Amino acid sequence: MITIDGSEGEGGGQVLRYAAALALLTREPFAITNIRGGRAKPGLMRQHVTALEAAAAIGSAECSGLAVGSTELTFRPGAVVPGEYHFAIGTAGSTALVVQTVLIPLMLADAPSRIVIEGGTHAASAPPFEFLAHTLLPVLTRMGPGLSVTLDRHGFYPRGGGRIVLDITPAPLTPIACMDRGTFKAGKVEALVAGIPFDIADRELKAARKVLADWPDDAFAPVQLSAELGPGNALLITAECEHVTEVMSAFGQIGIPAERLAKTAAKRMAGYLGSGAFAGPYLQDQLLLPFAMARQGAFTTVKPSEHSRTAAALIARFTGHQFIFSEDAEGRWLASLG
Ligand code: AMP
Repeated sequence: MITIDGSEGEGGGQVLRYAAALALLTREPFAITNIRGGRAKPGLMRQHVTALEAAAAIGSAECSGLAVGSTELTFRPGAVVPGEYHFAIGTAGSTALVVQTVLIPLMLADAPSRIVIEGGTHAASAPPFEFLAHTLLPVLTRMGPGLSVTLDRHGFYPRGGGRIVLDITPAPLTPIACMDRGTFKAGKVEALVAGIPFDIADRELKAARKVLADWPDDAFAPVQLSAELGPGNALLITAECEHVTEVMSAFGQIGIPAERLAKTAAKRMAGYLGSGAFAGPYLQDQLLLPFAMARQGAFTTVKPSEHSRTAAALIARFTGHQFIFSEDAEGRWLASLG
């Protein structure tokens, strides 16, 4: 039994989701205390409960202490059973983060799966649907498995109600090296609005344009969604390169000016493009688990995040595989398995 102090390192929900995925992959049980101890409101939120319920369902696991607000739990994995599953978060909690919990175990199962998840698809502090579809899954597909995801309905904070469908055809994971992103092909900035004033989209696009000044005018587009999906707002900044597509995002928040959110996301994209690295700040931590399960491989990236350092430490505890992060003379980082 591995024991984890959930307040260590990044101290958020990712520790828990990665621990559950690693337990399913290694068949090693774990006990965690101080869950989300590094967050302002520690303990399990609805979305973490659903992520762990999903892990327990696909992995025939016994899980005790699973309730909203709980700060400790134990998880005893059984065999991963592929198939058709439906998970409903019940809030705007992230559907992509439920995917983060079950995806790699199901990619290595012995038959295909179809997973339907209901909840948030475009909300803060989590990957938006487009990041899953255009950034993460295409890299994982290069490792062997067949993966596709569709968006049936947008789900914004606070209402949720979104729905995605994920199809997984397993395959052994082939190690890959993701060193260069290749040539820049196209940039796109979309401001999604649902049931809120349309000028918010214009203000976001204007602010993003100031930062991404060399992107052409027709790269910037407002997208009006049906008002009944709202209220909701998301800014999606996509850079399509030869070998990887990165998506940076921002989500409308009451009390934060649209311009500020857009400027931060655009600057993140500009920083990524200037770095010359393959993986941006979020793809980085999400590649560690599949690369560890392939036992070899490397990718270039921006400066390692606390999420990445924490995930790497957890991976080492469950699997013995150690990531090395090293910086080159141009300030680009390499994540490789030691
Ligand atoms: P945690 O904060 O511990 O719940 O973990 C959040 C997870 O969501 C990490 O894997 C992050 O890389 C990922 N994430 C957060 N924000 C974004 C974003 N805007 N785009 C893509 N991934 C994100």
